[in-house]
Amino acid sequence: MERPVRVRFAPSPTGPLHLGGVRTALYNYLFARKTGGQFILRIEDTDQTRFVQGAEEYIMESLKWIGMEIDEGIHEGGDFGPYRQSDRKHLYEKYVHQLIDDGHAYYAFDTAEELEAMRERLKERGADNLSYNHHVRQEMKNSISLSAEEVQRKIEAGEPYVVRIKIPENEEVKFTDVIRGEVVFHTEQLDDKVIFKSDGMPTYHMANIVDDHLMQISHVIRGEEWLSSTPIHVLLYRFLNWEDTMPEFAHLPLILKPDGNGKLSKRDGDRLGFPVFPLNWNNPATGEESLGFKERGFLPEAFMNMLAFLGWNPGGTQEIFHKQELIDTFSLERVSKSGAKFDFEKAKWFNQQYIKTTDLKSLLEMLRPEFEANGIDKDDAFLEKYIGLFVDRVTFLSEFSSAGYYLFERPHAYNEKQFNKRYQKEGVPEILERIPALLTSLKSWKAEDIENAIHQLIEDNEINPGLIMGTFRIMLTGEVGGPPLYEIAELIGQKETMERIAIALRYFSES
Ligand code: GLU
Repeated sequence: MERPVRVRFAPSPTGPLHLGGVRTALYNYLFARKTGGQFILRIEDTDQTRFVQGAEEYIMESLKWIGMEIDEGIHEGGDFGPYRQSDRKHLYEKYVHQLIDDGHAYYAFDTAEELEAMRERLKERGADNLSYNHHVRQEMKNSISLSAEEVQRKIEAGEPYVVRIKIPENEEVKFTDVIRGEVVFHTEQLDDKVIFKSDGMPTYHMANIVDDHLMQISHVIRGEEWLSSTPIHVLLYRFLNWEDTMPEFAHLPLILKPDGNGKLSKRDGDRLGFPVFPLNWNNPATGEESLGFKERGFLPEAFMNMLAFLGWNPGGTQEIFHKQELIDTFSLERVSKSGAKFDFEKAKWFNQQYIKTTDLKSLLEMLRPEFEANGIDKDDAFLEKYIGLFVDRVTFLSEFSSAGYYLFERPHAYNEKQFNKRYQKEGVPEILERIPALLTSLKSWKAEDIENAIHQLIEDNEINPGLIMGTFRIMLTGEVGGPPLYEIAELIGQKETMERIAIALRYFSES
């Protein structure tokens, strides 16, 4: 029987989300939407020592910015809550006891020094595997080596303990991974992992399995780094008699450095000058600030599209897939097994494509806070025209407010060298002197009318058009290049255009 699709993104709030984490969330989200399933956000905070202030909110804000709506979660609620593991503490112990009672787990009382001594002994014996497993269980302090009375006495005396899973000897643990096919681990490769601590907290493995089971998770889609934990999880499902409802597994490939090999890290971003977090992150421990894709000037949809292609490919040549198209096309079968190199140039390309094709109203809404922060005080019609002039010229949203600053205020400086080069040509100053009168006479102030008038002037005087248009542009904007000149003039208005010409002519005729 096909089960309803229920997938979870299960981050630990140990810091900001990096690209790999966001991509895991995205593939879970796309898969849920494609199949009409539920997308659940579960916060895995059982390891309180690694808790980082603000990380949980950061994760939720990131998903929101990118546009992944959560169906069940801390704020959304749902029938399978609570959705934060520290709020589920009371749920785990009973399953730990079940495992102990059935002989699949045991108490262990070894101190840190005793564990260290164990490793030393194993080294001396020439063992290549230094883990706690069936080879050493008997020589350690646990409920397998000690008598039942002794164990009871220790627990009652409040001695700290952990509970370890009892990994069976000499067995192959097999499972099918949707992306990798059949995966086999030998139990010799595994160790008796700690699943519960005497502070009443389960560890990742235990909490993860119990929650996936209770939350009726159908597919576990997560990063490759969890592949080696999966045989332990498969054994836990078996030991708890939950094999029938064990989720399917899909382990996603790593996101690799743009240059060389290995997993992409924050250091690569710092070294090569690109963000690796979706939003700005202020590290509460060090005070260090890291730039996010949002603040760098990425559109959320461009970011989503770029991210989807890091490890997945629908086949064919089309690369621009808007959110709904991604949902319609996504499949786990087309996720690749091998790592995906992150390419910031490609990310920029995606962003440019989205900037060019997003309607001006939506762009304005995204840019409004930044315009306001920069004291830009113009009406929406003006701002939309302004944005329209620059959509083909910027790579990042963050460039908009400064790219054409001269539409909001007078040029801060002139490119004097380029101006003088043209101004010194014969006849140019005289023709420029005639522009004010010519433009004052215009009845309508549309780009086309201004253009016609200037071209008439150029024709009548048989002068190189570049000399007049080049100087005209510098008088209005200070710069040599930019969006269509006459549209700039139209937008700043007749009076302002005349004033800028007058100021520039005064400045250059005196210098
Ligand atoms: N809490 C784990 C993490 O931080 C979840 C791994 C999983 O999805 O099972 O990635």
